[in-house]
Amino acid sequence: LRRLVTSPRVVTCDPARATALDPLGAIDDGAVLIDEGAIVAVGHRAELAARAADAEVVAFDGVVTPGLVDAHTHAPYVGSRDAEYALRMQGKGYEEIAAAGGGIVASMRAVRAASVDELTRALVARLGRMRALGVTTVECKSGYGLDLENEMKQLEAVRRAAAVSDVRLVPTYLALHALPPEANGDRRAFSERVARAWLPKIAGEELASFVDAYIDRAAFTVDEARGLLEKGRELGLGLRVHAGQFDDVGAAMLAASVGAASADHLEHVGDASIEAMARAGVRAVLLPIASFTLGQSPPPVAALRAAGVNLVVASDANPGTAPTDSLPLALALAVRTYGLTVAEAILGATREAAASLGLADVCGALRSGLAADVVAWDLPHEAGIVQPWGGPRVAAVFSASGTRVR
Ligand SMILES: [Zn+2]
Repeated sequence: LRRLVTSPRVVTCDPARATALDPLGAIDDGAVLIDEGAIVAVGHRAELAARAADAEVVAFDGVVTPGLVDAHTHAPYVGSRDAEYALRMQGKGYEEIAAAGGGIVASMRAVRAASVDELTRALVARLGRMRALGVTTVECKSGYGLDLENEMKQLEAVRRAAAVSDVRLVPTYLALHALPPEANGDRRAFSERVARAWLPKIAGEELASFVDAYIDRAAFTVDEARGLLEKGRELGLGLRVHAGQFDDVGAAMLAASVGAASADHLEHVGDASIEAMARAGVRAVLLPIASFTLGQSPPPVAALRAAGVNLVVASDANPGTAPTDSLPLALALAVRTYGLTVAEAILGATREAAASLGLADVCGALRSGLAADVVAWDLPHEAGIVQPWGGPRVAAVFSASGTRVR
């Protein structure tokens, strides 16, 4: 079935259509021709309607964009850490709560107690809420199992959810996230075992496309993570790094030196690290919901932009610092609190996000040959997507694996 999706404003995010004045490559009175889950043409409505007279016309009054791509989530979680937020609001710090057995280890207990079916059900429900907000691709990190069996259980839940969901999933093994209690505080022995034994097993079972490490002053060190990332590269996995959330301990520099696809967070990152990221083509994944929740200052966005680092915006969906499913909320905060332009924010949740996941030739823009991941909004202009109103403003979502009109 060929469908012609028409709109008064089609925002393509196609670099071939971008100009200095219009970096999003918008087409007024535009259309997207879809066939068998793929985009076959993008252009002016009248022209495409003449070329595809047989197509079913689906006409929208609002702006049409590519499906959003959420490039950093901890979505395969269960359990609530809402009480920690109350503690933080009483003055306890994130690192202090973690040291007292809260934080990531609290989520570990919930994930270890859950069956793979329970994890899958929770994830599928979360993905449904994300899709209703216009999201059609989601990166999903493990990292709450903290032992081989439970990390594999989380990644198995991602695989099962991918088979039944209309959302494209990208699994990431977050191999170094926190130290489980049974490691007895020995971070070095733990990180060596993860790199030597667990990572090859997970790569061998094809449970992950990326491997990730949380490097910070209260997390893992650059030295502890380097071996893991080098091993991941050797095994053919892409690399992502949690870098500079609380301090620049060299994580972004390491990301550049091992050829990581992204360095994420970056509230604290120095000029030399930024230069190294720019030279190595490491994308900056900005997570404004987490820094909003923690009351942190923004990353040095102007310096990242000036150095030519490509910017991605993601939700960081997780039960502690970003207890939300909403990538549009992250976009709203990226513009209002980080100072991104509307175009930077939208590209950061479409084309740049897809590129950071190795999906530049799959999704993230409206152009022929890509998957038919298309969102029609009940908003007249793309700037409405980033207004800080928070609620779902989606009229319809088309994705390569299915169409559901709200
Ligand atoms: Zn994260």
